[in-house]
Amino acid sequence: MKEPEAASVEMICSVSELANLFHQGQDLRGFLSQVVQIVSKHMQADVCSIYLFNEQSEKLILQATAGLNSEMVGTLTLNTGEGLTGLALKELRPIREGRGRDNPYFKPIPGSGEEKYESFLAVPIIRGIRRVGVLVLQDEKRSRFSKGDALALKAIASQLAATLENAQLLMERPRRGEHPGISWGTGRLIRGTQVVEGVALGEAYQMEGPGTLDHRLYACDDAYRDTLDDFRRAIDLTEQQLEELQNRLEQELADVASLIFSAHLLMLRDQGFSGTMEDRIADGARPCDAILSVANEYIDIFTESENSRMREKVLDIKDLGHRILKNLTDEEGEHGDYDGQIVLTNELLPSELLKLAAQKVEGIVLFGGGATAHVTVLAQSLQVPLIYTEDESIFRIPANTPLALDANQGILLVYPDESAIKRIRQLKEGTDRIAGLAEMAKPESYTKDGERIYLRATVNLLSDLKLARQLKAEGIGLYRSEFPFLIRSDFPSEEEQFRIYKKVVNGLEDPLVTLRTLDVGGDKILSYIPESQEEANPFLGLRAIRFLLENKKVFVGQLKAMIRAGRSRPIRILFPLISSLDDFQNAKIIVQKSLNFLKRDGLGQYPMPKLGAMIELPSAVEMAPELAREADFLSLGTNDLVQYMLGVDRTNEKVADLFDVRHPAVLRAVKRVADSAKEADCPLSVCGIMAKDPKTVHYLIGLGVREFSLEAAKIPEMQEAVSRMDLKKAQSDAAILSRLGTLHETREFMQEINERSEVQIER
Ligand code: PEP
Ligand code: MG
Repeated sequence: MKEPEAASVEMICSVSELANLFHQGQDLRGFLSQVVQIVSKHMQADVCSIYLFNEQSEKLILQATAGLNSEMVGTLTLNTGEGLTGLALKELRPIREGRGRDNPYFKPIPGSGEEKYESFLAVPIIRGIRRVGVLVLQDEKRSRFSKGDALALKAIASQLAATLENAQLLMERPRRGEHPGISWGTGRLIRGTQVVEGVALGEAYQMEGPGTLDHRLYACDDAYRDTLDDFRRAIDLTEQQLEELQNRLEQELADVASLIFSAHLLMLRDQGFSGTMEDRIADGARPCDAILSVANEYIDIFTESENSRMREKVLDIKDLGHRILKNLTDEEGEHGDYDGQIVLTNELLPSELLKLAAQKVEGIVLFGGGATAHVTVLAQSLQVPLIYTEDESIFRIPANTPLALDANQGILLVYPDESAIKRIRQLKEGTDRIAGLAEMAKPESYTKDGERIYLRATVNLLSDLKLARQLKAEGIGLYRSEFPFLIRSDFPSEEEQFRIYKKVVNGLEDPLVTLRTLDVGGDKILSYIPESQEEANPFLGLRAIRFLLENKKVFVGQLKAMIRAGRSRPIRILFPLISSLDDFQNAKIIVQKSLNFLKRDGLGQYPMPKLGAMIELPSAVEMAPELAREADFLSLGTNDLVQYMLGVDRTNEKVADLFDVRHPAVLRAVKRVADSAKEADCPLSVCGIMAKDPKTVHYLIGLGVREFSLEAAKIPEMQEAVSRMDLKKAQSDAAILSRLGTLHETREFMQEINERSEVQIER
């Protein structure tokens, strides 16, 4: 038999070609039978069969076979858990037997012709929360299938899953004249793109952001007969709940959540708001109608405002009105929370997201990719599963409709059936296993052949530090300092910043801390700087270090706070979006000035901290040799590097396919930076998208990079992947990759690397 590695690569290529054929409208059965022919040929197995799972009947149906009796196609059915094939689906794991009949679950199927086959290998085909089917190999010889074969078959199953899922849906679709009840499952599937991974079950909550026509609250039920006393109780209860929420947030998210519910609280006690409601009730209006009418009047006024910050308040009023109404009409009192709800919306502001997360929202579906990059990052830190969708029908889903969200696959299921709910619960248990991950994490990371690799944490919020500690991050490779600036309505004071940075600096046992200076501009707009909203091309505008060099007071304030926070431990300060040596030198002058100010003001004498430049622009790549000599360290920001190298907006869904880290220009740029750092003996760390994908980490290790900064939650799996990497192999792969000239070739080569177990995340 061929080496499994080589066989699988070859086979996967053929199978993916077939998947393309299928998309071009090939006959379904013909497609499936070609798949089984190819797989059986490449795996040199006597039999290959595909069973697809019918969600309506809950049965597996044989849909194609090479080797078994072909007359059974379409008629042979198995229950979940029936026989070894059913067992693979039930337990969602590969079943590999040297002699199938030795397994107590073995159940020969009369007439299938399988009696003579001894070896058995089945892998489930899963697509997110959907069980799609089972791929089975059989062979006359005993103990024919190795662990490597199981891995290869798993890779094929995942490669084919999307196409087979479509096949499954098409095969289950009711045909003309058939009973309408025989449809594919009870659920309707809405597709989107993953923004923050995770899964959720909940009921629909239509939020509607500013910009939509209808943010008004709905009419009251005629049955409500509440009194003025009930209204006052509802107001008191609302105030109490908001204060509790505020306190909880201040503890959990001290850096960003200061007074986040202040608008709610101020409004609640405002005479024009609750006072007018009271007046109308005193004049005979039902409390429910009074709340509705006043809240809606405010909503109308704020919606029409010229001022964007006023318009942002519409959602606060809606949220507040919703909460008061709930407290008035529901007896238990525990309301206004988003616990058990999946929010559907067309816009999401960072403050809104924080409020939703604080109120325990299960997940979010965002129409039209309306979230900016910092909302995405924030949602990641808050661990709220989130997808984008272009499907407008989400707004027609009635409130409280049961939903299942699989953000990992970018899928929303409306009215999920039992099997989807069960699967989501299983996945949720899987993702809730931080304790397991913590046990798995080791304090240090090494490649298979003992090369030391440093996996540091990227920290966005103070709340990320706990996970970074639990998962044994080796210091902080990147602290994004902008969140305290983004959520507030004015610049945080130097004192406020100092308190936050101190917590970051002392957050981990490992003393390495990299504080990045403010990266605002681009899509990270500070609502209190109106000029920043007027740029035609904000990503090419006054962003990051450019903003700070123009706003020296803000720069000095931040640097002083950072330097003071580093009193007990040395810190590294990192400047984002450096485009020239001059930028770096100018920033360094401001650091020196900040040190002088601290000394002059009697706030202490500090040594010059280590200063680093982020390499994110093609101009910085070009200047990397000089920057590496000038700076104390370099940090390669690969999210922006890809954006600016390829001219592809990282936040624009329409060009998301073009945002490809495997582009030869990106791979070569990264190599130039790695070579320059090596040459100047300057420490280089990589952060952003390339630091969290084992394939690109393999490439980077091959280039000589040893430090990576990534979200703490990803560290244990990356550590595991790194421990299977071989330095020599990584070096030879990197040498090949950096010479390839087309995206087609780099993609193929990366795919090949991906098929090898050393760069796959083991689940
Ligand atoms: C990057 O650009 O890769 C990076 C880490 O910075 P940010 O995502 O904050 O722009
Ligand atoms: Mg960046």
